[in-house]
Amino acid sequence: MNIGVIGTGNIGTEHIRRLAGHVSGARPGAVFDVDTERAGAIAAAVGASVHREAHDVIDDPAVDAVLIASPGDTHAELVLACIAADKPVLCEKPLATTSGAALKVVEAEAAHGRRLVQVGFMRRYDPGYLQVKSVLDSGQIGEALMLHCVHRNPSVPPTFTTDMTLTDSVVHEIDVTRWLLDQEIVATTVLGGRQSPLAADGLRDPKLVLLETDAGVLVDVEIFVNARYGYDVRCELVGATGTVTLDTPSTGTVTRNGGRAQPIHPDWQERFSQAYVDELQAWVAGLARGVTGGPSVWDGYAATAVAEACISSRGTRTTVDLADRPSLYRSTP
Ligand code: NAP
Repeated sequence: MNIGVIGTGNIGTEHIRRLAGHVSGARPGAVFDVDTERAGAIAAAVGASVHREAHDVIDDPAVDAVLIASPGDTHAELVLACIAADKPVLCEKPLATTSGAALKVVEAEAAHGRRLVQVGFMRRYDPGYLQVKSVLDSGQIGEALMLHCVHRNPSVPPTFTTDMTLTDSVVHEIDVTRWLLDQEIVATTVLGGRQSPLAADGLRDPKLVLLETDAGVLVDVEIFVNARYGYDVRCELVGATGTVTLDTPSTGTVTRNGGRAQPIHPDWQERFSQAYVDELQAWVAGLARGVTGGPSVWDGYAATAVAEACISSRGTRTTVDLADRPSLYRSTP
């Protein structure tokens, strides 16, 4: 499979390297980025061609499938072009920056009649989250009652806004909640309490996000993007007869001088490196069979709609009103 990659920034470059060296059955065949120098450098490193426009990648007959890793506000239009060209596409999150634009993609793919689009919610491929899901699905802890989540980043760039803590960070917990529980989120309340003295001016950090599902499960998320000590993502799912916990995976514990130290991942790239490879490998394996699975455009739409409700909340309970789910997406999220 020749993969055409649109966007060769942080994650696009990493995906190209993974396709070139860690994923079997595919290679990066063509790339495009508005930064032609950046695109040229990574293309030369992996032997891919460079196109002059994003749409040239989609229209290239030598490109079997497209990976979109450009900024979020470019995604919906590019995904629509892939659907029109009947070309499979893995689109990094978000599917779109507004729920209205995401819904247009849902309607376009539903009208097309078969799935072509996978959305890049890679936590679904993380071995730790898969273990939590498998414990819940096995019935060992009974039915899910509550989910507690922690999402901490050491720091964020000065351009990172309060809204982005919800649309770029908490959106992963939003997707994990829907996927783990197989339930939709129907309401949210976002509270900002005492703020970190280390947060940039105007950035509300940390915050507590409460999500309510259609089955009444309560989910709390601590989002704290100036935690300084490392990248730390955890959760505990509380069932009727037990709990299952996802801790920060750790190796190389050092015990010395009367103490014990465990390293913490410095960033999300390192924490989820295996999940990204497994996500791409599963996508490519599906392409070889002519099947698209994984997170769907419905999942992308629902996540954006919940993130929008989080932005509107500002301390008050805000409901999430989703459109009717087309039959193409009636199976599990
Ligand atoms: P980034 O480093 O800014 O890279 C984006 C690249 O796309 C830049 O080189 C940018 O060039 C280029 N670009 C801008 N407009 C373009 C266009 N119209 N067509 C093609 N390329 C264009 O951003 P990133 O961190 O890689 O994030 C990219 C996407 O991946 C975002 O949607 C982000 O939310 C998502 N992401 C997902 C995860 C995950 O865990 N799943 C993690 C990180 C990022 P300029 O810099 O010149 O504008």
